Amino acid sequence: MIEINKEALTERFMRYVMVDTQSDPESNSFPTTEKQKDLSRILFEELKQMGLQDVETNEFGYVYATIPANSDKKNIPVICFCSHVDTAPDCSGTNVKPLLHKNYTGADIVLPDDATQVLRKADSAYLENHIGADIITASGNTLLGADDKSGVAVIMQAAQYFMSNPSVKHGKIRIVFTPDEEVGKGTAKIDMKKLGAEFGYTLDGGEAGSMEDETFSADGASIIIHGVIAHPGYAKDKLVNAIKIAGAVLEALPKNEWSPETTEKRQGFVHPVSINGIAEKATVSFIVRDFTTSGLAAHHERLKKIAGSVVANYKGATMEYVQQEQYRNMKEVLDQHPQVAAYAAEAIERSGLKVKNESIRGGTDGSRLSYMGLPCPNIFTGMQNIHSKLEWIGVNDMLKAAETIVHLGMIWEEKANI
Ligand SMILES: [Zn+2]
Repeated sequence: MIEINKEALTERFMRYVMVDTQSDPESNSFPTTEKQKDLSRILFEELKQMGLQDVETNEFGYVYATIPANSDKKNIPVICFCSHVDTAPDCSGTNVKPLLHKNYTGADIVLPDDATQVLRKADSAYLENHIGADIITASGNTLLGADDKSGVAVIMQAAQYFMSNPSVKHGKIRIVFTPDEEVGKGTAKIDMKKLGAEFGYTLDGGEAGSMEDETFSADGASIIIHGVIAHPGYAKDKLVNAIKIAGAVLEALPKNEWSPETTEKRQGFVHPVSINGIAEKATVSFIVRDFTTSGLAAHHERLKKIAGSVVANYKGATMEYVQQEQYRNMKEVLDQHPQVAAYAAEAIERSGLKVKNESIRGGTDGSRLSYMGLPCPNIFTGMQNIHSKLEWIGVNDMLKAAETIVHLGMIWEEKANI
């Protein structure tokens, strides 16, 4: 029976969310905001105090640490737990005041600093699972920052557990906290060699028991249309306007399918994200998404064909189609190492939960890490209504996430044979 200290975890989480660590998509510095390092420094100090080894933080705001192995077995792979210190730019993270609602009754919670912010069971069905238990919200003016300080707190509390329970056997475990995940740069300056782990887990997911081992595969596509230019006063039967062709291409896209607004679950889509141009030349940029690489290729083919048949109606106009790879479904990597997700599922079950396998209609740091050589599914922490003033989290879910980490450490040790 693994008993995670509930009071300590609650206190730890509430303390971390009060540190403003919002990242900034407009910034070109790294980390994108200096204040993210405020939390990194706190984590650095606490990890040292707990007695972890190789504790370090750097100018980019990453924190690395080692829980040393305490097993005699020699071939236990080094595993790593990862979460991000920054909070989303979508909603203020300044002066977060976490509120602990003990024994949540199921009644509406009016957030005190803005009475229009009301957390209702009717809108957030998952609250039902936390009646009679403790939940934490912000106070109305800010997000809570459970995304991803719950992951940070859970990893820290699990580290504390490993350090104070030497009878729990495990191999070498690495910890890494990253900045700037919310602006897509969390892995930009990560030192994979220094990290030195074979397999990893991000703690950055929702409902208790959920595990995400699949993300979108993503490409960009640009359709560049060349018109025929002439002086507009003398352009009769000569001028072909690229901007108008771009409009016609967009008009030719299907109306009831194949777009973000008409797809869900495992369906892919193409999505125009920008249009730039002058009469002579216009560029329409798309994002293309699917769960398989072959699906992506089919979307490109279809888009190219639709655009090509439109452009063919304009004499003298030409088109280029350019595609760029953005990221790939982590499942393609994880399937080569099936034990990584299987052990996570087993750890979740040992914590008394049912495993919910989920696919992310987006990318994660885990998908990038997987392709950087660290197969890395994502595990729940309990975070809900993320990136909003109504963000909340149940303390019991964080406890279960910490328990899952401890079980994972033990499972990797058990499965090693020498
Ligand atoms: Zn996150």
